[in-house]
Amino acid sequence: MITAPSVAQLSSRFEEAFGTAPDGVWQAPGRVNLIGEHTDYNEGFVLPFAIDKTARVAIRVRRDSTVRMLSTYGDHGLVETDIATLEPLTAKGWTKYPLGVVWALKQRGIDVPGLDLLLDSDVPLGAGLSSSHAIECAVILALNELTDAGLAAEQMVLATQHAENAFVGAPTGIMDQSASLRGAKGHAVFLDCRDQGVQLVPFEAEEAGLVLLVIDTKVSHSHADGGYASRRESCELGAQVLGVPALRDVGVEMLEEASGLLDDVTFRRVRHVVTENDRVLQTVELLSSDGPQYIGALLDASHVSMRDDFEISCQELDVAVEASRSSGAIGARMTGGGFGGSAIALTPARLEQQVRDAVVIAFADAGFTTPDIFTVTPADGARRLA
Ligand code: ADP
Ligand code: MG
Repeated sequence: MITAPSVAQLSSRFEEAFGTAPDGVWQAPGRVNLIGEHTDYNEGFVLPFAIDKTARVAIRVRRDSTVRMLSTYGDHGLVETDIATLEPLTAKGWTKYPLGVVWALKQRGIDVPGLDLLLDSDVPLGAGLSSSHAIECAVILALNELTDAGLAAEQMVLATQHAENAFVGAPTGIMDQSASLRGAKGHAVFLDCRDQGVQLVPFEAEEAGLVLLVIDTKVSHSHADGGYASRRESCELGAQVLGVPALRDVGVEMLEEASGLLDDVTFRRVRHVVTENDRVLQTVELLSSDGPQYIGALLDASHVSMRDDFEISCQELDVAVEASRSSGAIGARMTGGGFGGSAIALTPARLEQQVRDAVVIAFADAGFTTPDIFTVTPADGARRLA
């Protein structure tokens, strides 16, 4: 597990690399989606929360249009480019995320100056915890301030989506950056993806004697792969045949009729989205009225729906979910876009070790790579640190 250096350490790393102190340090968290998967681009509901793992960027504005970028992670070396030459889909590696934000701001007529930027992140990469949006949100928060652009959170959400969709080339929605920018300690972010309406819902697992375990299967997922795009296409087709603007407009009570109008695969994709939206609403109600110890069955049902109807799980995710459930977790599901990444397991704190051990043993028995298992708690959204 990576431990985050202090702000002072980060500033002195910056000074070593670039010769001067940064103008400031900004931080943005990764996120875990508690429930509501593949509902965002269907204009539906999601319930993610910002986690206590963050990307931090130290930035100094330059007088020219050069951007120099360095990450404390891995062995990437200093990357240098010129703002005037930014072209969608051409940037390589991690720098496409900060550069995508610069590009998206420029597209909005904001005059972004050259920058020196040092990234330090302890959000696991490619684990479904949105390490990419953590970077983008830290950068956009910094640039919003440094350029006096005055963008509201909703506009920053759309700008980072534009960066991911058009510049990076990942067809992602608005969930990840909304959680990262708008999250709050002890709360999940109930987001209506149709109008960006946000309601903070108390999610205090610890107080209920629970922990939320993240099981990173280490199976890498990629949005560039066909699976994600083909699910989006099925959803669009389903909405078109059913004559609604988006699957958000299909209620559970309409599913029976829909089954007669859609082919089997499209119907199952639609059924996942429609029932998942309903599960998000039920989860929000239960969290507000009764507490996190009552949402286990909804997490389980969400996983079954993704495994059987949406078909975006994989063996490792299924083993993680089954092993945690059979060793004491009260609910578990894969989280994130699917085809790998992480599962979450809501677990009584006193059974945490038992569940961890059971998952590790099940992975070993199946011949899978040992998973990374850690707990996350709902943390504050993006902010300036120094
Ligand atoms: P996710 O957002 O679910 O973690 P993505 O594929 O969208 O997965 O983003 C992961 C990519 O983000 C990595 O391949 C890497 O390029 C980049 N990345 C994330 N954090 C860092 C970091 N600290 N240093 C360098 N690159 C990073
Ligand atoms: Mg990502």
